Amino acid sequence: MDYKKYITVVEDYPKEGIRFKDITTLMQNGPAYKEAINEMKEFAKDKNIDVIVGPEARGFVVGCPIAYAMEIGFAPVRKKGKLPRETVDMDYGLEYGEDQLSMHLDSIKPGQRVLITDDLLATGGTIHATVKLVEELGGIVAGLAFLIELDYLNGRGKLAELGEYDIFSLVTFQ
Ligand code: IMP
Repeated sequence: MDYKKYITVVEDYPKEGIRFKDITTLMQNGPAYKEAINEMKEFAKDKNIDVIVGPEARGFVVGCPIAYAMEIGFAPVRKKGKLPRETVDMDYGLEYGEDQLSMHLDSIKPGQRVLITDDLLATGGTIHATVKLVEELGGIVAGLAFLIELDYLNGRGKLAELGEYDIFSLVTFQ
């Protein structure tokens, strides 16, 4: 499927010079959304995944339906202060600023195989911190799946600082 035709490119959002990739128009199209999720599930299906992890909020939009389809659990990554119980926290740099991400301490058991999902891989800052959270909890990052990868921001290079990972993206913007 040509997913690009369902993704809206918004010029100068959230600030001048940024060409924002808006996935809400893909989500609004039932068959396109379903096929995108199915393709990501296909990528994950032979990896013996125990749990899916995704950062708020669009990581949930992608990760939760994959978890449902695979009949496995989903563990959220949230901005610090949003999770009610004991957490592990990690600093991260965004395309547009800095913050901390958190996961519940009991959300992954040591040795569990994890699929990390998000809507979009840009500079890789968000997913770099997510990989570190998962590994700090003893999880094994068995794969990473994105709807969109912005090749020119080299998120893969950022992830290579941490190790070699199996990365899948449905759509690449050069
Ligand atoms: P990164 O940390 O620079 O890789 O940025 C990825 C995160 O920022 C993802 O969680 C995305 O949801 C969000 N993001 C960055 N750029 C865009 C965009 O063009 N469209 C949608 N989300 C974006």
